[in-house]
Amino acid sequence: MQIKKNSVVTMDYHLRDDENTIIDSSGDSGPFPYLHGAGGVIPGLESAMEGKKVGDKIKVRIPPEEGYGERDESLLQSVPRENFQGIDDISVGMQFQTPMEDGSQQVVTVMTIDDKQVTVDGNHPLAGVPLNFEVTVVDIRDATDEELEHGHVHGPGGHEH
Ligand code: ZN
Repeated sequence: MQIKKNSVVTMDYHLRDDENTIIDSSGDSGPFPYLHGAGGVIPGLESAMEGKKVGDKIKVRIPPEEGYGERDESLLQSVPRENFQGIDDISVGMQFQTPMEDGSQQVVTVMTIDDKQVTVDGNHPLAGVPLNFEVTVVDIRDATDEELEHGHVHGPGGHEH
């Protein structure tokens, strides 16, 4: 069986940046399942997986525009320090969820702190980062009707509901 639209693909993966620093891997949580063709993984990885078979190893470098996008410097914002009252140990690298006007949640990362201002960055932490994936295809199966309806994988490693 080859990976095609509506396949449930289970993969082992290692993700590194261009300095060969490991960013993420399936090692901690076990093989990662996703629904192929449903936007469950970044576009560059999805197209690299198309047509692959169980046991195939894929090495691919994905540029930001096919990953988490380019950085948008307008998402860097200075916020008065007093807006963080109640948070004792605010430190660089901390992440907060901020409600947006459209009701969604945006994750922002603290970049700098001084007495008066905190600079937060609303870019995805991997925006602007080329992503070097090494993937091994562990399993491929057809999605169930229910999975297609929900647009995600059910069962181990997927949504439990
Ligand atoms: Zn579901």
